Amino acid sequence: MSLRAKLTLGTATAASLLLLAGTATAAQPGAPGIGDPYYPNAGNGGYDVSHYDIRLNYQPASDTLSGTTTILAKPTQDLSRFNLDFLLKVSSVRVDNKVAAFSQSGGELVVDPRGTLREGSNVTVVVTYSDVPSSYAVDGYTSWKRTPDGALAIDQPDIAPWWFPSNNHPTDKAKFDISVAVPTGVEVISNGTFGGTTQQINGWTRWRYRHVEPMATYLAFIAIGQFEIRQSTAPNGQPVLNAYSERLGADYGAAVASIERTPEVTEFLESQFGPYPFEAQGGVATPGIGFALENQTRSTYDAAFFRRGSNTYVVAHEVGHQWFGDSVSVKGWKDIWLNEGFASYAEWLWSEHVGEGTVQENSDFVYASYPADSPFWQVLPGDPGAANQFHGAVYDRGALTVHALRAEIGDEAFFRLLREWPAAKRNGNATTDEFIAFAERLSGKQLDELFRTWLFTPGKPAVAPGATGFAARAAAVTEPKSFKKIQETRELLAGHQH
Ligand SMILES: [Zn+2]
Repeated sequence: MSLRAKLTLGTATAASLLLLAGTATAAQPGAPGIGDPYYPNAGNGGYDVSHYDIRLNYQPASDTLSGTTTILAKPTQDLSRFNLDFLLKVSSVRVDNKVAAFSQSGGELVVDPRGTLREGSNVTVVVTYSDVPSSYAVDGYTSWKRTPDGALAIDQPDIAPWWFPSNNHPTDKAKFDISVAVPTGVEVISNGTFGGTTQQINGWTRWRYRHVEPMATYLAFIAIGQFEIRQSTAPNGQPVLNAYSERLGADYGAAVASIERTPEVTEFLESQFGPYPFEAQGGVATPGIGFALENQTRSTYDAAFFRRGSNTYVVAHEVGHQWFGDSVSVKGWKDIWLNEGFASYAEWLWSEHVGEGTVQENSDFVYASYPADSPFWQVLPGDPGAANQFHGAVYDRGALTVHALRAEIGDEAFFRLLREWPAAKRNGNATTDEFIAFAERLSGKQLDELFRTWLFTPGKPAVAPGATGFAARAAAVTEPKSFKKIQETRELLAGHQH
């Protein structure tokens, strides 16, 4: 369940609509939601954010988070007031240096600048706050995870409201400066390039990170606690920062053996998807996440992925998301298969690359492993519903869809598509319809029927992807060497819903 799903804040009232009709040039309130059908109150209308400067202090002993977030934004209409998505208790809001009025309810921070913010102008919003993030639950769920030695701000589709005020939807990406001061001896990991630490005279240390490419709010993260940090340089010259919780215990070696290979996995996926879209690389392994997430430039992994030894498939999945999900983000959450289908396909490409089973063998085995009467085939990857946003079908049937497309348009067009789509949509957002239109233009083929069958029709498609010879292969479908590891990865990734 998402934070957004059950918020009851008002939409535009009849009175304000009448006012809009009567006085078209008068400033209006920004909408409390950005218009996502799955989460009507997610994000906000009326402005675009270009930069978040998040400057915080965190005391692990009391789970106290305090500081300021400074937001640079441009109104997309004349605004009389606007909303930010935020749960923590705010002490002051200033808009263009002037004290603003504000109110908080149900995860919405409503800001009244006491004057009109003109469309297209530069607006600076400073929000000051102090609170205990773990004390907030939405529908019984707290995305902020307090740990024995710190905290983890990592979740999808919502985490930002637990640590910084934002326009919380993937369609409003922004650049980030993130700095967190903690008692000296505690480590802080976040997105982008590590800018170093500064000792403070009070016995605290400030950690600084900067990410210069646009990022969706749910992909911004902080991990705070006792970590071993390893820094190196990737073959493509980029800085690599990996972090390993001191609480990994017996999973430590396998976590290091997996995540240290991030630059190798990135190099391979660059050969498939084109240039890596960001300026830094890395990964974080820790108990207490419960899943893995493609946090931009620095994916995060629960210790459970490494319980049975190294797992480079989950690394391939999360690094694959840097192109499919992070650089090219969903326009609405129903487009989630564009993220998960391609990230899962990245696992199959990696399997073939390391000689543990070809893409075709993986596709055949997954197709054969779900009987026609399995409820798996009733979830539609192209419109799974908010409750099934991370259902296994979004991943596996999503990857089968990608492979069915490859079979239909041929390898030459398909591998060109894998490079040209992320390049065309870099740092942007996309819908399923836009992807289908792009694939049709690139291949010169009519693909409506294929996508209708694979994404939007309940039931098991009669023909397996790459069906030429499938009947012959079906008799001999054997489990790829990579399958157990990929299946284990899928079970830990899918079903993560709230
Ligand atoms: Zn994923």
